[in-house]
Amino acid sequence: MNIHEYQGKSILKSFGVAIQEGIVAENPDQAKEAAVELQKQTGTSWFVVKAQIHAGGRGKGTISETGSRGVVLAKSIDEVPAKAKDILGGTLVTIQTGAQGKKVNKVLIAQDVYYPGPSETKEFYMSVLLNRSTGRNIIMYSTEGGMDIEEVAHKTPEKIFKEEVDPRVGLQAFQARRIAFNLGCSGEAFKNMVKFVSSLYKAYDAIDASMFEINPVLKTSDDKIIAVDAKVNLDDNGLFRHPDLMAMRDISEEDPTEVEAGEYNLNYVKLDGNVGCMVNGAGLAMATMDIIKLSGGEPANFLDVGGTANAQRVEQAFRIILKDPNVKAILVNIFGGIVRCDRVAQGIVDAYKNIGNIPVPIIVRLQGTNAEAAKKLIDESGLKVHSVIQLQEAADMVKQVLSK
Ligand code: GDP
Ligand code: MN
Repeated sequence: MNIHEYQGKSILKSFGVAIQEGIVAENPDQAKEAAVELQKQTGTSWFVVKAQIHAGGRGKGTISETGSRGVVLAKSIDEVPAKAKDILGGTLVTIQTGAQGKKVNKVLIAQDVYYPGPSETKEFYMSVLLNRSTGRNIIMYSTEGGMDIEEVAHKTPEKIFKEEVDPRVGLQAFQARRIAFNLGCSGEAFKNMVKFVSSLYKAYDAIDASMFEINPVLKTSDDKIIAVDAKVNLDDNGLFRHPDLMAMRDISEEDPTEVEAGEYNLNYVKLDGNVGCMVNGAGLAMATMDIIKLSGGEPANFLDVGGTANAQRVEQAFRIILKDPNVKAILVNIFGGIVRCDRVAQGIVDAYKNIGNIPVPIIVRLQGTNAEAAKKLIDESGLKVHSVIQLQEAADMVKQVLSK
């Protein structure tokens, strides 16, 4: 699950990570109140107005309706409401949102932390994530903060450092010091960086995060080390342990079809292709997407119906897939192990009849227990469903229906 920057920062703060302070607002009046309050709390007289969406690249992104950037500086309290107005309700397009952009419902009014100017401050990059191949957490960091980290990794890979952390013992003091040293910190900044990294790692561990990305981490002119941005990704499988974090979910940021699929417990991820697929098991789903590509199509989705491919779930899955107007054909690929193929076939026939007129050809490949009986059942149903047993036949059939 993704959360907003302002939510991520509030979590970090609760673990003792120093942050760029801010107050969230939903309209220009609230934005002004936030600025007044922030001035009381921090003494700042300059502010940044930051669009809150579940995507990065906001600073360089543009609001389609007004031309405003997604992150803008306001040099007085009075400038804040107008700048917030240019962002709120608009559509922010960044390199991460795609051309359609994302609607902005909230802005974060934050204190300006770059005083007195860029030459007195320094931006770093830091992320914490899981290294699946070693089973350890990894802290990635760089002196080249504030910019596109993929580009840094590509052009100057030697500028990206990695510190692996054994999850059983946590981040050790010498590791935190090594990070501060490699980032060129000294004096107060060194101490503050050690504290920053240690609390950041603690937060990551405690909330079952799957990724933290803090870009930039800022060394201020008075040697504080603070999180200016916070991208926080939570592990869905750990969410049940954190009802307070679960409450941070913002469904308006998610793909509506994926949200609906989630309510049915279907593992659905929307993709850009033209062939819908319904499969049981994630491995088979991946293989099926490969088959679709090999036969000249592009998968329109990933969908794992799981172990219980009964009529009700098959029907829900069909309805979800059919919401996508790009779908030109549907490939159902089910392996009948514990679930018998003939029962799945009956489920498909029932679901088809319930939905009524399905406008695209359906290819069903059922393999496993009672596969022959399943094929017969579908062939004799009189529905416009092509049924096959071999994967190659299924691939050929996809090619055939796409070429029509
Ligand atoms: P992102 O573009 O979505 O990654 O959003 P960030 O939160 O990283 O902000 C984008 C950029 O805005 C940062 O890299 C900074 O250069 C700039 N920025 C953020 N906070 C401040 C601030 O307090 N003062 C100034 N002058 N610039 C800021
Ligand atoms: Mn950023």
